[in-house]
Amino acid sequence: MSDGAGAAGNGADDADVLVLGGGPAGCAAALTAVQRGLRVTLLEAEHLPRDRPGETLHPGVEPLLRELGVAEAVAAAGFERHEGHWVAWGDTPRFVAFGADDSGPWRGLQARRAEFDALLVARASAAGVQVHTGRRARAVLVDGGRVAGVGTDDGDVHARTVVDATGAPGFLPRRLGLGQVRFSPPLVARYGYLQGRCAVRDEAPSLVADADGWTWTARTGPGLYTWTRVWRPGLRVPHDWLPGEFQGLRRRVPDRGADVGWRSASRAAGPGWYVVGDAAAVLDPASSHGVLRALMSGMLAAHAISRTAVGAVTEERAAAAYRSWLRDWLGHDVQALGELYARLPWPPWSAAGPG
Ligand SMILES: Cc1cc2nc3c(=O)[nH]c(=O)nc-3n(C[C@H](O)[C@H](O)[C@H](O)COP(=O)(O)OP(=O)(O)OC[C@H]3O[C@@H](n4cnc5c(N)ncnc54)[C@H](O)[C@@H]3O)c2cc1C
Repeated sequence: MSDGAGAAGNGADDADVLVLGGGPAGCAAALTAVQRGLRVTLLEAEHLPRDRPGETLHPGVEPLLRELGVAEAVAAAGFERHEGHWVAWGDTPRFVAFGADDSGPWRGLQARRAEFDALLVARASAAGVQVHTGRRARAVLVDGGRVAGVGTDDGDVHARTVVDATGAPGFLPRRLGLGQVRFSPPLVARYGYLQGRCAVRDEAPSLVADADGWTWTARTGPGLYTWTRVWRPGLRVPHDWLPGEFQGLRRRVPDRGADVGWRSASRAAGPGWYVVGDAAAVLDPASSHGVLRALMSGMLAAHAISRTAVGAVTEERAAAAYRSWLRDWLGHDVQALGELYARLPWPPWSAAGPG
């Protein structure tokens, strides 16, 4: 792994696959591609470890983590586990378990993202991915109608295929002028990290809706808690707000905000490029599996690229299959979220899925 200015540069194709972004989507794409024998370079704009929201991981990530070869490292990190969460969504609070099989109850993870993402990047590097942290893609290189690489402050990087895993708002969709499709009005989320003791939250996370929005609260470690609050559209968002159960706890860092309005890039793959994770589509955190979707889309894009590389399918067909998978999944998620929100007195919009 190298930091800042570095090796990738100059050659005709420095890599088969160039991945932009070292979050779950980028690492999943890089690991899957390198496992299939492709030469992979990954550029991450920031220095690691770096913070990111989105710690609550659905148990469905476990088979993906096993396939990526990081399950043991994630288990060894000792993240908090939970068998479900408390939900009060326009009705009385009830415990919703993830489910169980012969080996016992399924358990979600409360993965501190700085550690989780650093662990994925380290695994990618160990597997043979050329990782450059502190190196941001700034310009897109196009050659003969194909995306052929990116420009960075330390020179150009050329590749047969570029995977944009830069998170919201996405690098390639903006640079290629693709535009976005919106499925909801802008939705503001605020989130924060606290220190202290909140016995009621030590048992399991909680999701509570009220007249003005909904709140997610969880414990991320001994004496450490996190919250996310999404306000109904049109409300003025108060700045010093804290969930009731967390009054009296100390802020570890200033609260932050994010636009979590439901949206997608109007196109997610084309000649020489794929867009994965949040760069491809964002749904608000009530959908509860942004990280799962990021891992899955990264793996599927890399799978499509590797099939093209061995001539099993044309690039056009592989890209069309990926776009279709993403559209179907997004359509399903938008519908499910729309039904969830329809049980509240708000929002005043009807969710139309991707066409
Ligand atoms: C408040 C909030 C709470 C959430 N809670 C949950 C949750 O509990 N569970 C869940 O599953 N999901 C949650 N999510 C969603 C989750 O955070 C995202 O779905 C997930 O992080 C997407 O992963 P990604 O790899 O696509 O992007 P990211 O994790 O955003 O990673 C993108 C990476 O790309 C890098 N990058 C950006 N631009 C460039 C560039 N030009 N060149 C190189 N690198 C670049 C960034 O530095 C970053 O490291 C939440 C989101 C929010 C806003």
